[in-house]
Amino acid sequence: MIPVNEPRIGEKEIAYVNECLQTGWISSEGRFIDAFERQWAAYCRMKFGIAVSNGTTALELAVESLDLKPGDEVILPSFTIISCAQAVVYGGGIPVLVDCDPHTWCMDVSQIEAKINPRTRAIMPVHIYGHPVDMDPLLVLSEKHHLTLIEDAAEAHGAEYKGCRCGSFGHISCFSFYANKIITTGEGGMLLTNDESTAVRLRSLRNLAFKKERRFYHTELGHNFRLTNMQAALGLAQLEHIEESLQHKRWLGKTYTEKLSHLDGLQLPVEEDWAKNVYWMYGIVLDEKIGIDAVEFARRLSARGIMTRPFFLGMHEQPVLQAKGFFHGESYPITERISRQGLYLPSGMTLTEAQLNEVCAGVEAEWQSLNG
Ligand SMILES: *Cc1c(COP(=O)(O)O)cnc(C)c1O
Repeated sequence: MIPVNEPRIGEKEIAYVNECLQTGWISSEGRFIDAFERQWAAYCRMKFGIAVSNGTTALELAVESLDLKPGDEVILPSFTIISCAQAVVYGGGIPVLVDCDPHTWCMDVSQIEAKINPRTRAIMPVHIYGHPVDMDPLLVLSEKHHLTLIEDAAEAHGAEYKGCRCGSFGHISCFSFYANKIITTGEGGMLLTNDESTAVRLRSLRNLAFKKERRFYHTELGHNFRLTNMQAALGLAQLEHIEESLQHKRWLGKTYTEKLSHLDGLQLPVEEDWAKNVYWMYGIVLDEKIGIDAVEFARRLSARGIMTRPFFLGMHEQPVLQAKGFFHGESYPITERISRQGLYLPSGMTLTEAQLNEVCAGVEAEWQSLNG
């Protein structure tokens, strides 16, 4: 089987993690935590980094720091991972959705203003599969309506919007370093901000809201969302070769596109003029006229030894969110179509040219058989 998304762990990763084991700095203090926070923040041109246990807890802390009141709303895309919507729900807010753009699969920013009302507190753009959201209209709206921007850049390490890195736009930006992300710490995440008081608050919430002045005296409830020094060691080593990783992803994106673009009715990822796409995952969407959905296409590719993954299912179609009373009767047609017709091809860090060619040959053979 050609795996769908594998990390690449080099000598440096092993050396750095070993240093933690040999020196005993295995918990959440140590030189790698500070270095990873500082260097990832600097890479994204932000001032403060707060490392946390994963991308989901990063989003939860970001929303928690808004201190939402009952009835407060946060606008997010319908096409995303459940982490985004559940962070809003756990934070006591109401998730409000907009559909996605049919080409970039990121939130359709033209639909946002109609959803803003006096209860709106924040917008949560999510860069999907490595392509940035069209940020300028969002920045204008957030300024005009005094809304906090919580940027989810978990899938867009190193991606750029008009020459600026993803993760540099939000009042708070959130990252995941899960094993399939461009930089991984195994499990892990980070929040970035330029606002010092926000950074202090996030650090406190991450670590049980301990007080510096008096140990074991608490005026607020926090969490244990700490990252370990070992994980940060892995992340720092990964960051030191991020340029190679991004080059690999961009090679993979460009090469797939070259080899698949002649297949009529197969939609491929785009790269808008204002964007640098890092092709975290190489998604494809099958035209409905082809007569099969992504589940069936994935089954056929799997029979050829090619692993794939389905696209997200829309937040408004999630039984757990419907059961909580959200999104009743709402429809987001682009999300609904691409969640049924979309899947992504092997996009891992270890994918070889031979494997990529095999994937393309498999996709093409299935495509020809479907087109008679
Ligand atoms: C991976 C991911 C997350 C969640 O990160 P975890 O580290 O798996 O909790 C959040 N948002 C997006 C867009 C993601 O791709």
